[in-house]
Amino acid sequence: MVDQTAQTIILGYHRFVDKVRHPDTEITPQDFEKQMEELKTHGITVIGMQDLLAWKRSEKNIPPRCAVITLDDGWKSQYDVAWPILKKYGYPLTMFIYTEGVQGGHFGGGQAITWEQLADMRDNGVDIQAHSKTHQDLRKPYNKVTKKHLSPPEYEQWLQDEIAGSKELLEQRLGIKVNCFAVPYGFYNEHIKQIARNAGYEALFTVYGQPITYTSALDSLGRYMIEANKPKVFADAVKMIGAPTSGGVAVAEVGAKDLATQPADGETVRTALPLIKANLGGVGQIDPGSVQMRVSGLGAVPASYDPKTATVSYQVTQRLRDKSCTVIVSAKSAGKKVEAHWTFGIEEGAAVGATSPTAAPKK
Ligand SMILES: [Zn+2]
Repeated sequence: MVDQTAQTIILGYHRFVDKVRHPDTEITPQDFEKQMEELKTHGITVIGMQDLLAWKRSEKNIPPRCAVITLDDGWKSQYDVAWPILKKYGYPLTMFIYTEGVQGGHFGGGQAITWEQLADMRDNGVDIQAHSKTHQDLRKPYNKVTKKHLSPPEYEQWLQDEIAGSKELLEQRLGIKVNCFAVPYGFYNEHIKQIARNAGYEALFTVYGQPITYTSALDSLGRYMIEANKPKVFADAVKMIGAPTSGGVAVAEVGAKDLATQPADGETVRTALPLIKANLGGVGQIDPGSVQMRVSGLGAVPASYDPKTATVSYQVTQRLRDKSCTVIVSAKSAGKKVEAHWTFGIEEGAAVGATSPTAAPKK
């Protein structure tokens, strides 16, 4: 029997630079090393992705509090800067590679990792996994590389190539087995999940961080994406599973799907001022005074709760500026804290006036 109470946070990083110019994707080597040290001081064991998946299959035990380190997009600084730091700590890592981003590919410039470097990492036990071919929003039938709108059959073929083709290419080029897919930008829908399942992926990863438990759905494992200008993301991730401090409260996680959220998890809206809603009716008896909503970029917001309909809602009045927005709704039910997270996208150049969300992406 494996320990089904163990918890894992998955951390995601991009570039490692001495001088941060793009704080949403960069971090200094010093800050990175500090975080690696902090994992140790909080009693969190860094394990490999394959160990996490083996535990979810009940094949292997993992320590009670774990972290998995993932590096996205294939940057040279991951090889030159991050890997040596991880080696120093004896931490395993997973690389999420989009194949056209490797040096020599359509997007593989001078800062990109090379196939030789990836082979070196593979030979030294680094886990290499797929992150599509060209790193686009897979929900949209538009190929940014060829600047072409895709007809339904073309779109299906393109999705196959991005999802199954990238896996095949990595497996053949490096002689490895690929069983994980990190969805570009974390944007996915049911159809994308289905194609990934059919392609033989065991696990799908998104960008909304949450502790991974024994029962977490393998088709949407949330990662904490660490950004230089949001040190709180790392601190929160560690706090979620770190060694318990006095006054710690157990939190029961509720799936966003059960709350009929608006906008829905994974949806993209055309307004930067959306109406955010969730129905807590299925959660149980809610203490009306305990309902709270947090919105990424805004913090705690003055949401209203209607006990009659069990609906918590908030009309955003201050333009959301990020490409995606995470909402956290929490409440007390029978003395226990329950919490739900979900993430929706905001279309680039979204209007400020309109308030109605767009329909699901065209098929
Ligand atoms: Zn990426």
